[in-house]
Amino acid sequence: MPDGGCNIAYAALDRHAHGPMASHTALRFVTADGWDGDLATRDLSYAELARLARCFTNVLRELGVGKGDRVFTMMSRCPELYVTIMGALRNGSVVSPLFSAFGPEPIATRLSLGEAEVLVTTRAHYVRKVAKVRDQLPSLKHVLLIDDGAADGDEPGTLGFWRCMAAASDEAPITHTTPDDPALLHFTSGTTGTPKGALHVHGAVTMHYVTGLYALDLHADDIYWCTADPGWVTGMSYGVIAPLLHGVTSIVDEADFDAERWYRILASQGVTVWYTAPTAIRMLIKAGPELASQFRFPSLRFVASVGEPLNAEAVWWGKRVLGLPIHDNWWQTETGGIMIANTPAFDIKPGSMGRPLPGVTACVVRRHDDGTVSVIDEPDIEGELALTPGWPSMFRTYLHAEERYRNSFADGLYLTGDLVKRDADGYFWFVGRADDVIKSAGHLIGPFEVENALTDHPAVAEAAVIGVPDPTVGEVVKAFVALKDGYPADDDTMRSLMAHARKRLGAAVAPKVIEFTDSLPHTRSGKIMRRLLKARELGLPEGDTSTMETTGTMETAS
Ligand code: ATP
Ligand code: MG
Repeated sequence: MPDGGCNIAYAALDRHAHGPMASHTALRFVTADGWDGDLATRDLSYAELARLARCFTNVLRELGVGKGDRVFTMMSRCPELYVTIMGALRNGSVVSPLFSAFGPEPIATRLSLGEAEVLVTTRAHYVRKVAKVRDQLPSLKHVLLIDDGAADGDEPGTLGFWRCMAAASDEAPITHTTPDDPALLHFTSGTTGTPKGALHVHGAVTMHYVTGLYALDLHADDIYWCTADPGWVTGMSYGVIAPLLHGVTSIVDEADFDAERWYRILASQGVTVWYTAPTAIRMLIKAGPELASQFRFPSLRFVASVGEPLNAEAVWWGKRVLGLPIHDNWWQTETGGIMIANTPAFDIKPGSMGRPLPGVTACVVRRHDDGTVSVIDEPDIEGELALTPGWPSMFRTYLHAEERYRNSFADGLYLTGDLVKRDADGYFWFVGRADDVIKSAGHLIGPFEVENALTDHPAVAEAAVIGVPDPTVGEVVKAFVALKDGYPADDDTMRSLMAHARKRLGAAVAPKVIEFTDSLPHTRSGKIMRRLLKARELGLPEGDTSTMETTGTMETAS
């Protein structure tokens, strides 16, 4: 920044607004309305997005909202979302995006935990989810509705977003912020428990830039599509910030997942770089090869995936259907950016999440009962993935859970909660969440290994594995399996699947019990919720289900 500070929105937007990128398309929205096979789009240039962001900065200033104040968003992937995020960051305010499909309770919890001062949303979301609990949210001073101005008048206690924008000047000097000033508040996916609020700073922008380059290979002439919703960290770091930093044109699909629509977007929009998630890939695989064969993707040159383990079969599916293998990478809300990746610069090891990016130091550790850890130097040994702190996008705290934050560090390392192995070439292989690992007859069994073997069976669409307590061996492996359309859930399929699992995994690791199910519980960001399967199996309370996907359709993945 010219004043020597650091602000994400300056690097992502202001920097481009008056330079050679000004008229370049920043965001191409594929509209949701009336899709009948044809896709309608509308473009927003870097200069126009920057102008609108400056107006929104002034809207906040007029309202007395300043540096460090929290601005929450709850809306679909529409232009106002991007304007709000950038305008608020310019103002030095802290942005917290909420996933718009959340129900009233998770919304209220997050607004309260995050001490939201401003909420930008739609009239329908506000009326259904916030109005009734507004008196329990004393910090929430201003609610702006993006679809205000309707004939039936304003909603009491709210302001019209566009009316405020129309009254605002488009000249707004950016607020001075430093790399250590808070910028973003992200709630984790809640796969393993109650979602945590991870606070990130403006300095994270360095990581967004570098990883956009090294892990996703973004360049200004790219047409880039990140399928994650900005309600999750992937959608913010790599759906909003990194692409703007690199001056690319981002595709934003305003609609939810639909296999044919997604293939059509990839093909007709000339997408060159695609960043998606295993859950989406599994759904495309499920939709069958016939649909895929109707499309060609000559512009596509790089495909990456994050969020859950990507099995080797999915990597090769990419090669067959898209013409490119899929590059898996690993990170989490807490890391703020990609840490480990199969980069374009190196060969993919299918089934592995890749190697640490330049500047990232990762190791495998064993935890001891006294709270210390020791580093495992030998390859191919299972342990917890740990990172040397200090990368710029590292989270700075869990909101109102300082002790939990401190407990995620030991002996100078950040402990990720994920179990991995590192091979002799330095590639990391995901084993499972530490919470999900099964201890059976002295073995530690990673659910991913078992699920991976099961999904290789032609009848299986998706599998999830848990440990069920057993007096003799500690835990026995139980698998929940959703079959592909056309395969019967009968004894023959069961026998074939059991035999396949034993052959692949051996009797000690293969599931002892398999249960067929129509579908598995997922978070809205597309992750399988094994803790829920386990709670149901054991008749225990289900715990926090606020992020559970309930509509039967996946919202775009994290
Ligand atoms: P919570 O912490 O609330 O339980 P969560 O960990 O699912 O939720 P996120 O931060 O969205 O929330 O997800 C990060 C986690 O996703 C990682 O810690 C890891 O378990 C999993 N993950 C991400 N990328 C990969 C990958 N490439 N392979 C395997 N697992 C991955
Ligand atoms: Mg987590």
